[in-house]
Amino acid sequence: MIVSFDIGGSAIKGGIARSMADIVPLARRPTPKHDFAGFVAVLRDVIAEAGGKPDCLSLSIAGVVDPDTQALICANIPCIHDRRLAADLEAELGYPVLIANDADCFAMAEAMSGAGRGHRIVFGAILGTGVGGGLVADGRLVNAAGGFAGEWGHGPIIASSAGNPPVAVPAYACGCGQKGCVDTVGGARGIERLHRTLHGLEFSSEKIIDEWLKGDERAERTIDVMVDLVASPLALAINITGATIVPVGGGLSNVEPLLARLDEAVRGRILRKFGRPLVVPSQCRPEPGLIGAALLGLQYTGERNHAA
Ligand SMILES: [Zn+2]
Repeated sequence: MIVSFDIGGSAIKGGIARSMADIVPLARRPTPKHDFAGFVAVLRDVIAEAGGKPDCLSLSIAGVVDPDTQALICANIPCIHDRRLAADLEAELGYPVLIANDADCFAMAEAMSGAGRGHRIVFGAILGTGVGGGLVADGRLVNAAGGFAGEWGHGPIIASSAGNPPVAVPAYACGCGQKGCVDTVGGARGIERLHRTLHGLEFSSEKIIDEWLKGDERAERTIDVMVDLVASPLALAINITGATIVPVGGGLSNVEPLLARLDEAVRGRILRKFGRPLVVPSQCRPEPGLIGAALLGLQYTGERNHAA
């Protein structure tokens, strides 16, 4: 039995996994952000609720494990940031601990039990508040030992003009310290930023999308520019990885006409031609983090038992 966790800035969700087909969510609990002992106590409560002795604990976290130092980079939960969290939790709790990035868990969930089933290479893209991604090849998470593979959201790469007809787009400063990242234009905050630049309007992404769906011209312009900016780096990611499916998660993935528009733009820019949708809505809802972490845990324990 695996106990999996989806650890976010506001809540910790737990789950029990006995097989790919048997993953049961447990109660959600608030995340202690500044108190590591409190954080460990919450995990202990979830394990107690699960009952029995887990073979391992598997955590999905909105952060990245540095593959050189094994330290977790997780700015929004200070009490676990910069810790060698797997080792610290193993010492506290006495079980093997796996840590994976939430976008990686999303990609794993989609590859094994979602829209990516049957595909060798799955590039899972997140269009949520910001932009992220994860890569699964032959059922293996490329970042299984930590790392940055699939992070197409960062780097100074967006075009300086976009849309039809083209309009100048500034290289916006990004939280990662660079300028012109996909993350600055591709998620909900990015749509809001583009709408402000193009029209001087401070609207929420929900309002912009709502107006776009009703045929508003200004919102159409914003979406046109956003899709144009995002499609090229996503097409490049597909050319580089050879992905044959791109399940999309995050809040914007619920807007199917937006994904259809992005899919059309991306398919026009990649070398391989697909006569079917390539950029598609995710299927593992509502808990891809929990499911992906559980799948990683099951894979880990299956291989350990096989080796023993
Ligand atoms: Zn960035």
